[in-house]
Amino acid sequence: MIRIDQLSHSYPGGTTVLSDINLSITRGTLLALVGTNGSGKSTLLSLLAGILRPTRGTISRGGFTSPGDEAAMRRSSGLLLQDADLQILGATVEEDILLGFATDDNVARTKALDMAQRFGLADQWHTPVQHLSWGQKRKLCLAAALLRQPDCLLLDEPFSGLDYPGMIEMREMLIASRSAGLTQVVTSHDLEPLADIVDVMAVMHAGRIALSGAPRDILDHVREFGVRPPSSWTANRTLQPWD
Ligand code: ADP
Repeated sequence: MIRIDQLSHSYPGGTTVLSDINLSITRGTLLALVGTNGSGKSTLLSLLAGILRPTRGTISRGGFTSPGDEAAMRRSSGLLLQDADLQILGATVEEDILLGFATDDNVARTKALDMAQRFGLADQWHTPVQHLSWGQKRKLCLAAALLRQPDCLLLDEPFSGLDYPGMIEMREMLIASRSAGLTQVVTSHDLEPLADIVDVMAVMHAGRIALSGAPRDILDHVREFGVRPPSSWTANRTLQPWD
């Protein structure tokens, strides 16, 4: 489903920020890209989304390959950026959520309203987007992304800034999407809300994948790369729910 071969990336005029990345995951995998700030997680996610084009190497995702198919990759992914304001294009919740549909008919409207309900945004249907809270804006982006029926979800630090109920909701969304067979890539500098629900973890360090594998196989080594293992692992080496 996702295959990354010999990937390197430099920003224009800059130094190389990703080097020699190789990674494959099968459809339906929930992959966590973890690492300290600046380790290259967002850059790799942007390459997977088709927002950036690799300087060297290739990324294949859902039948498309970059360099070359960036536009198709952008259309077929559900992306959540760290800054929701960069993604919201509609003036109200209704307008933004309906942008994902080719036509604004009753079927589209019903689906959109159901999704708004699922994300607790139904009461804000007519609310101007600038009146939404930061968490609500991110929910709107996620709802709109899911409505486009993407072949994968690419989420940049989805837990950052969420309160406890928001964190639980985000986890439940990830678990439900995993059950539905959606491939997901989630970046996080913090393993606490995530370690027990991911299938594969790739630890990034200075633009490289330093470690990758099932969480229970690598959690003893993540500290070496500035990442703290989750407290359940430190306390009693358990991981739930699918340990
Ligand atoms: P992370 O998501 O792990 O914090 P990033 O992918 O954002 O890491 O950044 C990796 C490196 O790339 C950092 O050194 C950062 O300064 C640099 N970088 C990120 N975006 C840009 C950009 N648009 N132009 C130049 N350098 C960038």
